[in-house]
Amino acid sequence: MHTSTDKTLYRGRFAPSPTGPLHFGSLVAALGSYLDARHNRGEWLVRVEDLDPPREVAGAADSILHTLEAFGLEWDGPVVYQSMRNGLYDTALEQLARNGKLYGCACTRKEIADSSIKGQGTIYPGTCRNGLPAGRTARSVRVRVDDTCIRITDRLQGIVEQRLADEVGDFVLRRADQLVAYQLAVVIDDAEQGITDVVRGADLLDSTPRQYYLQQQLGLPAPRYLHLPIAVNASREKLGKQTHAGAVQPDAGNRILIAALTFLQQALPDDAAMAGQAELLQWATVHWNVDALPRKRLQPAPEIPSA
Ligand code: GLU
Repeated sequence: MHTSTDKTLYRGRFAPSPTGPLHFGSLVAALGSYLDARHNRGEWLVRVEDLDPPREVAGAADSILHTLEAFGLEWDGPVVYQSMRNGLYDTALEQLARNGKLYGCACTRKEIADSSIKGQGTIYPGTCRNGLPAGRTARSVRVRVDDTCIRITDRLQGIVEQRLADEVGDFVLRRADQLVAYQLAVVIDDAEQGITDVVRGADLLDSTPRQYYLQQQLGLPAPRYLHLPIAVNASREKLGKQTHAGAVQPDAGNRILIAALTFLQQALPDDAAMAGQAELLQWATVHWNVDALPRKRLQPAPEIPSA
């Protein structure tokens, strides 16, 4: 097990949820985090975020790991599975509870949607903040936020500011089904694994201030962040299970890797299609250039070559 006392200057990670096979969008995140880590002579870990059994697809975790291996994206150390780490999350919840930061919430999704201010999505209005309404029992556990403005400098997307009280509200750390929320688990694991650099899709940019807030509340260091553009289809939907994005597999002509590197606006060697896969990855590692990455949150996916 890695600990944050290791003297590693750079430790990155890829943290897939096992909700389906690796598709082009998740390959871009894996490749980007791998290349950034290896270019910086860092370590690269893989963590399976299997905290949500209802969303999990049987066999998906193994399939993702095999596909990463097949692309030559080799990780350091053992793969970590969030489902084995509930004790760590419980300890963090206890710490927050001791500090008066948590409260039980009886609200259902529908109640929150009905009482949210129009046009503001699902900002929690604070109904249970000062005690449960009479006759109601707690379903979930929320953390209290305050109205300070959180400011993060993303290595690619620049300054991100969010006032949690206005834009999110007190948010759930233990769900009504008793599962630990992603926002908490990711913060605990990144700190416990000594992650210095998070490189992931920009669909998580809006979650980053919540994670930063939890790091502050728990006295944990904040990693550096780099949010890559996410691949979207013609209707500007993220590629994934919902959009029926197909599984990717390496092919002899490196077409998928070339498509992913092109998506990230990285340079290619002249003979990219003729190069061996390991050779191409090595070349891409040496030539990895953050300044060339597209500075946007969404980018149309290319025609995905089928193997
Ligand atoms: N498990 C999350 C996902 O697959 C990624 C979490 C992260 O990189 O922080 O969307």
